[in-house]
Amino acid sequence: MTTTSTPLPEVWFLTGSQGLYGPETLDQVAAQSQGIVERLGAAGELPTTVVWKPVLTDAASIHRQMLDANSAPQCVGVIAWMHTFSPAKMWIAGLDALQKPLLHLHTQAGMALPWATIDMDFMNLNQAAHGDREFGYIQSRLGIARKTVAGHVESPVVAQRIAHWARAAVGRHETRTLRLARFGDNMRDVAVTEGDKVEAQRRFGVSVNTYGVNDLVAVVDQVADTDIDKLVTEYADTYRVAPELLPDGERHESLRYGARVELGLRSFLGEGGFGAFTTNFEDLGGLRQLPGLAVQRLMADGYGFGGEGDWKTSVLLRATKVMASGLPGGTSFMEDYTYHLVPGEEKILGAHMLEVCPSITSERPSLEVHPLAIGGREDPVRLRFTGDPGPAVVAGLADLGDRLRLTVNEIDCVEPDEALPQLPVACAVWKPRPSLSTSAESWLMAGAPHHTVLSQAVGVEVLEDFAEMTGVEMLTIDADTTPRSFQRELRWNAAYHRLAQGL
Ligand code: MN
Repeated sequence: MTTTSTPLPEVWFLTGSQGLYGPETLDQVAAQSQGIVERLGAAGELPTTVVWKPVLTDAASIHRQMLDANSAPQCVGVIAWMHTFSPAKMWIAGLDALQKPLLHLHTQAGMALPWATIDMDFMNLNQAAHGDREFGYIQSRLGIARKTVAGHVESPVVAQRIAHWARAAVGRHETRTLRLARFGDNMRDVAVTEGDKVEAQRRFGVSVNTYGVNDLVAVVDQVADTDIDKLVTEYADTYRVAPELLPDGERHESLRYGARVELGLRSFLGEGGFGAFTTNFEDLGGLRQLPGLAVQRLMADGYGFGGEGDWKTSVLLRATKVMASGLPGGTSFMEDYTYHLVPGEEKILGAHMLEVCPSITSERPSLEVHPLAIGGREDPVRLRFTGDPGPAVVAGLADLGDRLRLTVNEIDCVEPDEALPQLPVACAVWKPRPSLSTSAESWLMAGAPHHTVLSQAVGVEVLEDFAEMTGVEMLTIDADTTPRSFQRELRWNAAYHRLAQGL
């Protein structure tokens, strides 16, 4: 996807103080907060630039700064640090106005106290220990959603936690203007792929609209043969192409049609400014194959996708891919498909009809054509591979009627126990934490969906920050989860979210 036209995202660094200390001290405050910004940048963890802003000492300039943050398109969030004591009534109007994500950084310029030389000048300058408490109070009093990070900025943990928040902020920023194209509605009679598109636009900003699949077919049918020739050559250079699909093979026409669908889809999505889409095998109009290869390659380029009209998973996939940008590991549409239930070796085999993203494998995918038992169309071309082993998460978004719920499970992807020569689709195999039974029981109690986003690149904290910023409920299933504690959390969350909505 082209992102060249958008400026590099920024987070703004705001430092709070007051006029009481005089210009000399405020100059030191400014210099030290610039030092913090430099060290954050030098840590190399952040997916954004950090822009230092002049020290804030009065209500009017704080309010103005927040309005500027709201209206600056490249600003994805704001970090605030009370270097000295900044009486917090002067933050009320600004915090009330702020519409971008907020991180409260609780730190101090130096790591060690200079015990032998501490005097009142030092004490006056280094007051974050109580200055930030004043700021914490007013944020809580106003009910401001934020992330709070405490520690010295040279601590790798602090830098990483700020980076996770910045990644989430970039993901949120993306969904504010995301456009999603659904080709057809969602699969008939399926419940979990339904949802409130108005609520999704309110929470995430995403605009979800349906297009007749034959609008896409019209574009697909216009694709030039010379463009198909070029793309087929690219396939041969990139994948292990089955001999029957090669130019002299008897099923080469199937590959050419797959290339035609890819070029048509790219053109439709590009012209409409769409960053995510869905398909539905029940509604293919004039398409001769269910799009498999095309969807896989578009996902690898960063597009969000959900099968069977699942627009919520498509939104989550696009947001997660943006949050994962630049990190090792891939991110894919996924479905819990089938189980290995041998005691002590329990695993989930995840796959889909066709649409698994090749970003989750380091192997060279195989490009093949096989029959599809459903859909009643020509055999679709698809990439086959197995996802890489290693830690990952699966995340699913469900609409509970009164709110959206994001459920995340930490997992460990593993090699399959044996080769899978008869499986005609891409897959991933994993052991969910803490165990298959606790993971599955918790997932089912949460009503979490069967379609998920599998990411090897982002972890729980990034998604947690994203949920906090978008006002979405978040549930985590990890090594510490027990079904009993999880059930209690579900009940508390239900009460909390219903109360938090008010009237
Ligand atoms: Mn499915």
